[in-house]
Amino acid sequence: MHKALVDRVIFPAQEWLKGKPTYALLRSLERTQWLDARALRELQFRAARTHLDFAYREVPYYTRLLDEHGLQPHRIQSFEDYARIPCLTRDLLRRHFDDLQPRRRLRGVQRMSTGGSTGSPVTVLVDPERAAFADAIRLRCHRWYGVGMGAREIALWGSPIEASKQDLVRTLRDKLINSRFLSAFDLGEESLSRYARILRDYRPQKLFGYASALSLLAGYLQREGLAPEPGSVRAVFTTAEPLYDFQRSLIESVFGCPVSVEYGCRDAALMATQCPSGGLHMPVEGVTVEILAAPGEPHGERGEIVVSNAHSFAMPIIRYRTGDIGALEAKPCACGRALPCLRSVEGRRTDFLVTPDGRVMHALAAIYPLRDTPGIQQFQVIQERIDLLRVVIVRNDLFTGAVADTLVSSLKHLFGGGVSIELELVDTIPPLPSGKHRYVISKVADRFFEGFLETRA
Ligand SMILES: [Zn+2]
Repeated sequence: MHKALVDRVIFPAQEWLKGKPTYALLRSLERTQWLDARALRELQFRAARTHLDFAYREVPYYTRLLDEHGLQPHRIQSFEDYARIPCLTRDLLRRHFDDLQPRRRLRGVQRMSTGGSTGSPVTVLVDPERAAFADAIRLRCHRWYGVGMGAREIALWGSPIEASKQDLVRTLRDKLINSRFLSAFDLGEESLSRYARILRDYRPQKLFGYASALSLLAGYLQREGLAPEPGSVRAVFTTAEPLYDFQRSLIESVFGCPVSVEYGCRDAALMATQCPSGGLHMPVEGVTVEILAAPGEPHGERGEIVVSNAHSFAMPIIRYRTGDIGALEAKPCACGRALPCLRSVEGRRTDFLVTPDGRVMHALAAIYPLRDTPGIQQFQVIQERIDLLRVVIVRNDLFTGAVADTLVSSLKHLFGGGVSIELELVDTIPPLPSGKHRYVISKVADRFFEGFLETRA
């Protein structure tokens, strides 16, 4: 499909059909990225205030909360005032699910279940504008690398729907926008060799996907001498988990192009995308990030990332505690954009699981069925041996025997017949010494990867 046709006709038409103002937002973001710091700060505050007006007017939870604290929108005149609004948490999202929705129901709203970075599942509602804003931020970032909409793309990705239903509509849609989907839930040798053939034939200009999955693919291509021609891939975009330095250098050397990371919290917002000069720019036109100083840390340094999303209407995200630890960057970015940057994001990590028949799966493959199971408050999956998964669950009343049976059979289906699944019901799952919760721990994957890396070297 011709690139300009996708960029100017097909993709805009598709977004219009979904009621998503992606292109209007992108045009505006293209302009505002060059504003100076002060103008950006004003714009950011106006967006946050307008959104707060909406929440106060339309959303019962916020009418009550702001009245209770005497923080009605007209009293919020600065970010200092804004920072007095009580934070939203995952637990509050669960408890006030109905109250957090506007009285007038919006169209085109989708439910999204996430595991978050703490391993306690939560469901949020996403309206077309929120989805469009995230897409527009991503597209702005892709244009920084000269690979906007219409450039041939490979997505190494996974979600239960995308992974299981590679149906005709999806395939057609992908073809229309020059995108190919490869499942990150199956990264065994056989699949990697198939992906290598697809890369060779399709000649993508950009790749998008999980950091760990892309670096595994890069490692395979290097080992087999199948790296793409230098200059053919223009940029690799990684998401959903931290990109370790060794992964970045491997991907850069195999694909011969820069790697850009993004940072987001699926519950709340896409919070930063990386420019070619290395800056993790925050889309402050619609997103506000605050750092809640950790005890013992000086104010403004390292702390918990709290985010507000001015484009969230079906379920307003206002001062949402992500559970991630990070810091803001004080120095301006060399690219010349005054969009402020995050300095670092720490503390998130997903892992891989290995199946008896040799498949390597992204940990999210096991997380999806768990977080979609009713009655699970919190969970942890521990791969004790290649043929034994222990699933630790904090449950509520909705978790019945029948639900447990369904869960076990879907995990068995995922891992193959030879695997035993042990469910263990507990009252609490203690966090790691660092205070974080690991929702998947594989005692097998590290050994497997060491072997993999050795054979590669
Ligand atoms: Zn920059």
